[in-house]
Amino acid sequence: MEKDAYASLVHQIKTILKKNARGKPPLIRLSRETAALLESVTVPDTMQKPHLEEVSVESVSESPPDNEKAACTVESPCIQSAGPDSLAKISAEISACKKCPLYATRLHTVAGEGNPSASLVFVGEAPGASEDRQGRPFVGRAGQLLTDIISKGMKMSRDDVFICNVLKCRPPENRVPNPEEIMYCEPYLLRQLDLIRPKVICALGAVAAHTLLKNDLTISRLRGEWHTYHGIALRVTYHPAYLLRNPADKVKTWDDVKEILQFLNA
Ligand code: SF4
Repeated sequence: MEKDAYASLVHQIKTILKKNARGKPPLIRLSRETAALLESVTVPDTMQKPHLEEVSVESVSESPPDNEKAACTVESPCIQSAGPDSLAKISAEISACKKCPLYATRLHTVAGEGNPSASLVFVGEAPGASEDRQGRPFVGRAGQLLTDIISKGMKMSRDDVFICNVLKCRPPENRVPNPEEIMYCEPYLLRQLDLIRPKVICALGAVAAHTLLKNDLTISRLRGEWHTYHGIALRVTYHPAYLLRNPADKVKTWDDVKEILQFLNA
């Protein structure tokens, strides 16, 4: 197994085990030794670190001909086409995707939108109700705040950047995505980032940060410093939906945005 796939698997297993061990009542019990052993599991440096496109080979699918629109499912993954990957191809695959149960409740898939050569990519958590209705990312109230951050704060336009989410379909009632959904959907995001190769990724909120950085540290621990995602500089800030509920923290996001601007202009 490649290094990134292994890291993702380890992270998902740890998350599931911890969640079930901390439940009330806990569904599983871990001895202190087992918990310590679990924490010590890391990705060996000796594992091959592949190019991003290689990570997602299993999930890469060919856009089926119109007369046989077979969906990409876990049991029947689509076959990778010989042609080069593209954002349009990824969007087409997402439109037909049935890898996780969210396909059954979505109105539209939300692949992402913006400049395919953007120097800055915003990655959020998942589509909400407005996004699900329109098939576009960040178009509700939180989306308006993100648009203000981009246009009023950064003096850029939404067309200059690329905006997407970890999940491409809306979780019912806007609940937090579960580890399985992230595991199935994440390869689409990896391929998008690999194609765009921005200078900076801005992870909006915990789900995006944890998915990209493969840890479960709090946002306050992750903010305020630079991280790296496959050689791309990454900054973590609050999700706009959180800022709507906690406007006092907008000033911290403004600090993060200034850092990103400085980096982009350096
Ligand atoms: S959330 Fe992602 S993996 Fe699940 S059905 Fe939608 S596109 Fe497929």
